[in-house]
Amino acid sequence: MSNMDDVKEFSKEDIIQKIQYAKELIEAYKKYPNLDISKLYANLRTLKSIIEKCNTDGKVEHAHAQLAEYLDKAEAYETVRIERWADGIRCPYCRCEKIELLAEENRKLHNYYRYLCSECQQQFNDTAKSPLEEEVPSIDMWMEAWYLYGCTQNISYIAAKLGLDTSLVKSMINELQNLFNTKQPVTKLEEKFDKWQQRFSALEKSIKENILEKTSLLHGKDTSKQARDTAEHRKQHDRKHLLNLRPKS
Ligand SMILES: [Zn+2]
Repeated sequence: MSNMDDVKEFSKEDIIQKIQYAKELIEAYKKYPNLDISKLYANLRTLKSIIEKCNTDGKVEHAHAQLAEYLDKAEAYETVRIERWADGIRCPYCRCEKIELLAEENRKLHNYYRYLCSECQQQFNDTAKSPLEEEVPSIDMWMEAWYLYGCTQNISYIAAKLGLDTSLVKSMINELQNLFNTKQPVTKLEEKFDKWQQRFSALEKSIKENILEKTSLLHGKDTSKQARDTAEHRKQHDRKHLLNLRPKS
């Protein structure tokens, strides 16, 4: 038995401890955002350019058809995230800026994030404590109104396109202007995205560090050697290791 020498090194306590580290490692991995950010951002740039073109040629009807083509649920949520957290994610309950990104089971489906405030310990998402929270109308419709407003300030036209009351659309636009702290949609998209991406990279970095730390704990003294490996090596090693943790059927 080739592995016997390895096996006998571990006491029961060691194994229990390692299982705990493995669980923590899996939790750390779950926090990884699972989204195709470049495709999303390309779509957002297109949406922005549709607005700009419409402001030049005045073809609102054409712009509306194009907006509908590129504005899906993922883009709608991403727009909320970029517009609302343009200056960094803030806790909607206590205004604290020390925020942790939490694992989210259905993030892949709805591109829906959850955060934890380090100050008041409240959990929240991108629409928490905002008029969008109830999702009536749906986020897609809120954002369709928002993008259309970039093309035309004719509220009756937007209302007719969305099949909503003019007064409702008027208040929706006001709410969005307040929430996003801007008069016009995606006017500073590049700048906001850059800031958001910085913030996002910081979160991603902290998740990576957490994963490395848990991996070190799990591997014990062997990690000093891994620390000299390239990042890609480490990533592959971590992934391989995580696969090995899965129960064999
Ligand atoms: Zn808070």
